[in-house]
Amino acid sequence: MSAGKRYIERIQDDRQVWLDGELVTNIPGHPDFRGTVQSIASVLDLQEDPVLGPQLTFETETGAKANLAYLVPTAKEDIVRRGRSFKIWSDATFGVMSRIAGYYRSQITGLYINRNLIDQEQPYYAERIVNYFNYVRDNDLLITSAGHDPQIDRTKPAHELGDLYTAVRIVRETEDGIIVRGAKLIATGGAYLDEIIVSPLARKTAAEKEYALLFVVAVNTPGVHQISRESFASNEEADHPLSSRYDEMDTMLVFDDALIPWERVLVKEDPDTLWKLRTDYVSSGYGQHEIVVRLVSKLEFVLAVAVELAESIGITKFAHVQEKLAELAFQVESIKALWHASEHNASLHPLGVWLPSKPELVTAKNLGNQYYPRAIEILQQLSGSGMLQVPSRLSELHGPLGPHLQKYYRGAERNAEERIKLLKLSWDLVGSRLGARHELYERFYAGDPARTYAGQYLEYDKRGLLARARSAFA
Ligand SMILES: Cc1cc2nc3c(=O)[nH]c(=O)nc-3n(C[C@H](O)[C@H](O)[C@H](O)COP(=O)(O)OP(=O)(O)OC[C@H]3O[C@@H](n4cnc5c(N)ncnc54)[C@H](O)[C@@H]3O)c2cc1C
Repeated sequence: MSAGKRYIERIQDDRQVWLDGELVTNIPGHPDFRGTVQSIASVLDLQEDPVLGPQLTFETETGAKANLAYLVPTAKEDIVRRGRSFKIWSDATFGVMSRIAGYYRSQITGLYINRNLIDQEQPYYAERIVNYFNYVRDNDLLITSAGHDPQIDRTKPAHELGDLYTAVRIVRETEDGIIVRGAKLIATGGAYLDEIIVSPLARKTAAEKEYALLFVVAVNTPGVHQISRESFASNEEADHPLSSRYDEMDTMLVFDDALIPWERVLVKEDPDTLWKLRTDYVSSGYGQHEIVVRLVSKLEFVLAVAVELAESIGITKFAHVQEKLAELAFQVESIKALWHASEHNASLHPLGVWLPSKPELVTAKNLGNQYYPRAIEILQQLSGSGMLQVPSRLSELHGPLGPHLQKYYRGAERNAEERIKLLKLSWDLVGSRLGARHELYERFYAGDPARTYAGQYLEYDKRGLLARARSAFA
């Protein structure tokens, strides 16, 4: 059985995914999930492709094949190999799918590599992360995360909200594990994937000790509910080429006294240790590498759509159009350069592993928050009303008004069918509900930009340049 088929089979389990107020009992067969399940399955199958497979996998110590996101890079070339494999996977979905290519798989690899970081504080951690790493790697599992407490009132920490169980905390402990209650947002892809990493993104204070948990949960754990947002999926592939295939879905997780077995509890009620892990670059850097590569795929896709749009109505000869297309090319080349620089400047860590260079990756990620909305704005500017001028169904080309459509919807050196398809793709990227979600995603998915930018400033090594500049005025 192929990897994709195995995936489809295993997600037909007891997961509690709620959509439109109803429990979805068969994710692969449900019209709002079916198309995306097929996309994920086909990407997983690439690992068995005779040409691409060897570029996406490696041989583990047992001789089995595993996804390269789980490769521990003991040589500099391994970093490059990892990056190349992320690009192949991201390209397979034009960078639109964010949770299959290895973001959180890589994060687990990082936690595994630096497994002894918190030996003093949480002595059981090392053994548990080793077992978990082997489990997800050897079963080719797909992972997402949920790190935020419900918004409610952002001026108050969780313990001051009146109800102790809004954010996730332990209700009681048993021989088997911890019983947790509360909610977490957002788990992108949670409805489709296998595993979720649950831990706060923001730093917890000593007063919020109870909320300082890091655990990993199987999506089908009893008592774990996922409340889906409205579906943006379409079943009309010809009219909605992206929405019909790539609605990853975002869910709010509700833990209704769910049992998390001890072997899945990685940090328990320990804010400082959690922050130590969170700010440890070995633990997070491999995931950051993946998100930058995926961004390249997505920006390349937007650039290609923009060029096609402009060419389709012959506007590429106008200088301001060339300027806008060049801006999109700057975006692609800047992020690509930062990606490659992070690999070129990779360093050997005392643990014996190679790490992609951090400043380049942080810069690329932060630029992405601005680049993507700007790229979408440029697509709007280049399209004018074009994206809206399409008939609601591509099939109308062959209906009673077909001859009119052939005449009035054609483009410059494009027939009507080619142009309508392009415009439908553009609208799906820019104006559809999926498109709007993607703009929000790229702004926020890795944290509030206001605070991640501030974080870059605070962490930035300014000493050398300040010393030089001061020599000019001291
Ligand atoms: C489409 C999408 C998918 C996502 N997928 C995931 C996922 O898979 N996993 C995951 O963990 N997260 C995911 N996220 C969540 C993401 O991590 C958060 O959106 C992001 O960290 C911001 O948090 P928030 O949405 O709670 O907004 P808030 O933190 O509530 O911020 C809202 C506004 O209030 C301001 N604000 C709030 N609190 C403060 C403060 N203390 N100081 C200053 N300003 C403040 C912010 O600047 C911002 O303008 C996703 C988000 C989106 C939009």
